[in-house]
Formats: sequence, C-alpha cells, structure tokens
Amino acid sequence: MSYDYDLMVIGAGSGGVRAARMAASFGAKVAICEDRYMGGTCVNVGCVPKKLYVYASEYSKQVKNAKGFGWSTPEPHFDWATLRDNKKAEITRLNGIYDNILGGANVQIINGRGKIIDEHTVEINGQQYRCERILIAVGGWPFVPDVEGKEHVVSSNEIFDLAEFPKRIVVVGGGYIAVEFAGIFNGLGSQVTQLYRGDLFLRGFDQEVRDFAAQEIAKQGVNLQFNTDVSAIKKQDDGSLHIQTNQGEVIEADAVLYATGRKPHLHNLFAEGMNVELNKRGYIAVDETFKTSVPSILAVGDVIGGMELTPVALEEGMTLARHYYDGQPCEIDYTNIATAVFCQPNIGTVGMTEEQAREKYSNVVKYRSEFRALKHTISGSDERTLMKLLVDGDTDKILGVHMVGPDAGEIMQGLAVAIKAGATKAEFDATIGIHPTAAEEFVTMRTPVNS
Ligand code: NDP
Repeated sequence: MSYDYDLMVIGAGSGGVRAARMAASFGAKVAICEDRYMGGTCVNVGCVPKKLYVYASEYSKQVKNAKGFGWSTPEPHFDWATLRDNKKAEITRLNGIYDNILGGANVQIINGRGKIIDEHTVEINGQQYRCERILIAVGGWPFVPDVEGKEHVVSSNEIFDLAEFPKRIVVVGGGYIAVEFAGIFNGLGSQVTQLYRGDLFLRGFDQEVRDFAAQEIAKQGVNLQFNTDVSAIKKQDDGSLHIQTNQGEVIEADAVLYATGRKPHLHNLFAEGMNVELNKRGYIAVDETFKTSVPSILAVGDVIGGMELTPVALEEGMTLARHYYDGQPCEIDYTNIATAVFCQPNIGTVGMTEEQAREKYSNVVKYRSEFRALKHTISGSDERTLMKLLVDGDTDKILGVHMVGPDAGEIMQGLAVAIKAGATKAEFDATIGIHPTAAEEFVTMRTPVNS
C-alpha cells in the first residue's frame, strides 16, 4: 500500500517537533500539522514566556536589594505593555525558528488541526492524507473546574497577554503553574492572593521543601490561603471581580488565574467511530514503544500523562523516532528526572522526597542545611535557603537532593548528572567545593540530622 507520508505528526509542540525532525533525519517522509502555534505550549504559553516573566518579576527585588550595596535609584516603575509586547516579539521569532528548523529538516508543515479518520488517515482542512504511522503529540489544555463565574477567569493560555496589568490578582491552585505565577505577579507589583484547596501547596514535593517554600513565598508578600476554594466569582459594574471563598471571605481582584491542572487536548481529534484506548486518568494509553491500542497510531508527551515536562516530551519524541526509523531500542529511564519550580526563591529537586525514601529504605540518612545567602548579609533581605540530601545509609547512595533558594533550578541540573551516575555521599564529600557559592553546601554537609 502506498502512503502520502511515512509519519504524520499531529501537534507541533516539543515532542511532536522533535519526533518529526528526527524521523525525517533518518530518511522518513514526514509531515506535521498544527492549528495554533509552532512550538506548542512550552514556547508559546508555557516554559519560555513564563521564564521571561520570572526574570521580569525578579528585578523589583534586585532593585530593593541593591540599596545595601550602595545603589540608590528612583522608585522603579513597571510597564506591563513593554514586557508583554517584547515577549510577543520574542515568541514570534521563535515560531519562525521552528518553521525553519522543520523546513530545513524536510518536514512538510501543514497548518490546520488534524483529525484521525481511521488507522492510516488524517484529515486536515478537508483534505485526507494516508500515513503509515500517525503520531499524536497534541499536548494538554488548561482545566478549569465548574465554578459560578467561570467565564470571568483566565488560564495560563491567556495570562501572558492580558490587556491591562492586574493590580490585584487571585491565583487558584497549588501546583507548578499557580506557584510560579503567584511569584511572577507578586514581583511585578500586584497584590497576590493564592488559594489552594488542600493543607499545603505543591503536593508530591518533599514535605519540608513545601513548608519552607510556603514560608519564603509568604515572606515575599504573597497572601497564601490554604484549605480555601472559590465558591463564586462575580463581576462588578466597575469591572472588578468579587471572589467569594468557601471560608466566607470576599476578595476583590482585577483578575483571577485558574491553574488547576491540565487535561489531554483530545477535543475533535478523532472522527466519529474512531478512537484509541485511554487510561484511567483519561490520557492516551501507550505501550513501551509509544503504540496506542491501534498499532499504527503512536502518542508522546503530555497527552500520555507521564511527567508533563518539556524535556520528557523531547526525549520521548527522539526515542520514538530512533526506534521506528533507525532500528534502535525504545528505552527511556524515567527515574531521577530533575525538575524545578520557578517560584521565588526557586525549588530544585532530583530523586526521592524524604517521605518516599523513608517508605522504601529502612536506613535513610538526612543532611540538611538552612542559611542566609552571603548576598543577603548586606542586601537586607531576610530570604533563606534550604538544602537537603537524602542518603541510603546501607549503600551510601544519594537518594534525593532538594533545594529551595536562588538558582536552585540551575544548581540541580549538575547534581542530576551525579545522581544519574549513582553518586554516593562519599563522592559528594570527596568533591571540593567552589567558594563562595551556595551550591558548595551540597558537598560540605557532614553531620546528619535524622528526624
Ligand atoms: P498541577 O497538576 O501541577 O497542579 C494543579 C493544582 O490545581 C493542584 O494544586 C491541584 O490540587 C489543584 N486543583 C486541581 N483540580 C482542582 C479543582 N477542581 N479545584 C481546585 N483546585 C484544583 O498542574 P499545573 O496546572 O500547575 O501544571 C500542569 C503541569 O505542567 C505540571 O504538572 C507540570 O508537570 C507542568 N509544568 C511544569 C513546570 C516546570 O517544570 N517548571 C511549570 C509549569 C507547569 P491538588 O494538589 O489538591 O490535587
């Protein structure tokens, strides 16, 4: 049977683009279809613009901290439109780079939403293409629960491009996105209230890290309200919003950001009668070679519901292409994937939390250091840093590394290599530090603090 394409990729986000480029580099005839923006969530409404906004928000603190070092400046003024529009221009540039990379790799780009008609057919803009394999890489979409006044809220898809800067903002949720945006708007000068339905945000992270991060974030001025949810949102005549909480409080705000998780973006993906199996959580179920229940249809990235992180989707896309178009094994080691939350200060983590480690190992040795960074001895800031190492006392192997503090994301990447290589505490101890840095603390912690 002849096909128009060896591989049709639906969705030009991190996983889809990587799979398409790699497959084409191995000689496959590849097309990719995308109806929204090149680069997907990460480039357009995720990691990249988020990090730019984090940088923007950190300047206010830097200006304040500079006083202790002798700098005096006029009262700083922040202009939202400048940030928003500079961000837009940069993202447009990146969209163009994605176009060029794909074109240069001989991947056919088709603008439009792909619909899977049958196991080998994808329809885009009314035209049908026969494909030997179809790769679903459509990612996720923000989920906003049903709440009265839902139409007044924004999600991470809209927050970057608000017409007006919200002087008061309510952020709902306690995951990565909520915590990061609470920090961003706090730094930019908004009055921020973060509402989270549970006892403590960042469920799944190390308990001590969560406690410490909450303390530091509250110190920076974010009004954290835990065990609190929204019961209704009402728009006032002056355009402001009244957010009624289940604690009986009414909070006034100019914007409400819902960051209450993401769901696989399956809307309109399959023609009637066509489907692939979903897992219990509603994500596309795949085997270890990324095959769905229909063997010619594959899926990678957020739509399969693993760790929803860009580097994971990239690895999946690359591994899949190598497997199907270069005969290599389809193996990914999902253990010890480092991650960072770009809240302020950052959280960086790799390996097990203390709770996971103690559940699995009977002899966990904990090293912990908490301090005020050298910079803040003069800056006047009372920000503190937390570092934690968890070690298996029987084998001396490092089980987990955690940090809450400036640049924790940057610091954790290097440590992740050591953990991946199976580093022991003795090897950390034998490593000579770089002085004076905060990171050197990871190789100088000598006294266990078991709790
Ligand atoms: P998360 O799944 O991380 O967090 C969702 C949050 O919303 C949780 O606190 C959850 O509470 C809460 N929630 C869920 N449903 C409701 C509801 N009905 N009412 C009230 N609260 C609710 O999702 P995010 O949207 O923050 O991020 C999505 C994913 O994107 C992340 O999991 C992460 O993988 C990725 N990401 C990674 C980043 C990074 O690497 N720095 C940055 C941003 C996103 P509960 O805990 O109680 O379930």
